[in-house]
Amino acid sequence: MKRVALFPGSFDPFTKGHEDIVLRGLRLFDEVIVGIGHNSTKKRYFPVEMMKQLIEQTFEAYPAVSVVTYDDLTAKTAFEFNARFLLRGLRNTTDFEYENSIAQVNRHVNEELETVFLITSPHLAPISSTIIRELHKYGHDVNEFLPYQLTTLA
Ligand code: ADP
Repeated sequence: MKRVALFPGSFDPFTKGHEDIVLRGLRLFDEVIVGIGHNSTKKRYFPVEMMKQLIEQTFEAYPAVSVVTYDDLTAKTAFEFNARFLLRGLRNTTDFEYENSIAQVNRHVNEELETVFLITSPHLAPISSTIIRELHKYGHDVNEFLPYQLTTLA
């Protein structure tokens, strides 16, 4: 049976830190599905369809990577896509506290599901989507943090 992992996140925007988790995930799994979770009642900074296209473009050369969007429980979404694993990145203890509780909940919703955590590569640890949004909002060029180029303002 193929080992399929869902890498869920807001990816607002998808960063070099996220790219690193996907590429390292490919050493563990046959397929990695990047799942952009978006709550239709919450406004994003970067539109979800635009981000989907940019992530697809990033992994053009990797047929084992696909990108989906979802507005549902992550654990249910994993089940839908036959993913038995959730892939997440850990930067620091704050991430750990949060990830620990959501991993328990996801397991409760879908007991087949295992969450696999990869510790961030040190040079990428300071990158966060929140900081990138803030820099971008005030007109700073953020392309050095992204695995693709943003040509237009969102
Ligand atoms: P969420 O809103 O679900 O936390 P994010 O898009 O912020 O979604 O992050 C998705 C996943 O990527 C999370 O597991 C997060 O810890 C991880 N992540 C975020 N930034 C980095 C980074 N620089 N290096 C490694 N993992 C990261």
